[in-house]
Amino acid sequence: MSCTIDLHAHSTASDGTLTPSELMRRAASAGVEVMALTDHDTLAGLAEAARAAADIGLGFVPGVEVSVTWQGGTVHIVGIGVNADSEVLQRGLAGLREFRDWRAEEIGRRLAREGIAGSFERARELSNGQLISRTHFARFLVEAGHCRDVRSVFHKYLVPGRPGFVAGQWAELGDAVRWIRSAGGQAVIAHPARYKMTRSKLRRLVAEFVEAGGEGLEVVSGSHSRDEYFTMGQLSRDFELCASAGSDYHGPEHPWIELGRLPELPPGCTPIWHDWPIDAAN
Ligand code: AMP
Ligand code: MN
Ligand code: MN
Ligand code: MN
Repeated sequence: MSCTIDLHAHSTASDGTLTPSELMRRAASAGVEVMALTDHDTLAGLAEAARAAADIGLGFVPGVEVSVTWQGGTVHIVGIGVNADSEVLQRGLAGLREFRDWRAEEIGRRLAREGIAGSFERARELSNGQLISRTHFARFLVEAGHCRDVRSVFHKYLVPGRPGFVAGQWAELGDAVRWIRSAGGQAVIAHPARYKMTRSKLRRLVAEFVEAGGEGLEVVSGSHSRDEYFTMGQLSRDFELCASAGSDYHGPEHPWIELGRLPELPPGCTPIWHDWPIDAAN
């Protein structure tokens, strides 16, 4: 049975390519019954998504994906069921977007030194006045013929050790969890298997996250393999964390990830939605 709940996806408010309304309509057509919007470091798409979902009778969960720096690397924490009016959350995210704006100009300067001119300006255009992500730079570099696809741009220019990568300080882990909780949300470690951490380092991250008040682990993710569903399911049980499920959908350009196609949570996991007033199929 396929899962009818999807708790991780992006819109044009961050680095997705569908507007919040288009995303909700696509989710409903794909058979999703409860859909979250979790843009990177912004709540800007939530009001539109909530209206569109209500119009078509789709269950909607307002969310956010917060960028965190932990032990020198980037980790993403999804906030599920957040109140967009929370000043604590709004202030925290505004600080991250300030860093993002500066970083985007710095990426532009670094790529210019590599002989690629105008990338900041074009990335800003591609972001339509919303926040600028590395993904917007990647789309520009593909469009300008520097690489054949977004994945190769990241590999060549935008990851640590490459010329367009700018290190910096996102949120502290404890702060991200605190902002989410103070907005009434549940904090979930996004795509835990994607960080390529050793088992012991990942367990340290999870332990610190639990200590800070985190509640869930994204066990089923569009970027996890079948084996990883089970290892992450086991990890969630070891720490008595709830399990979440999300596609991390960014748009129809990435056909290998589709809404409404997530497998069930592995046996023994407690769904993060176990005490929500919904009747999820998972
Ligand atoms: P940012 O938050 O601006 O640093 O950008 C992070 C986003 O870039 C992630 O949410 C992904 O959507 C995308 N991304 C990160 N690494 C890769 C990669 N190796 N290939 C393709 N997209 C990536
Ligand atoms: Mn993204
Ligand atoms: Mn992420
Ligand atoms: Mn994401």
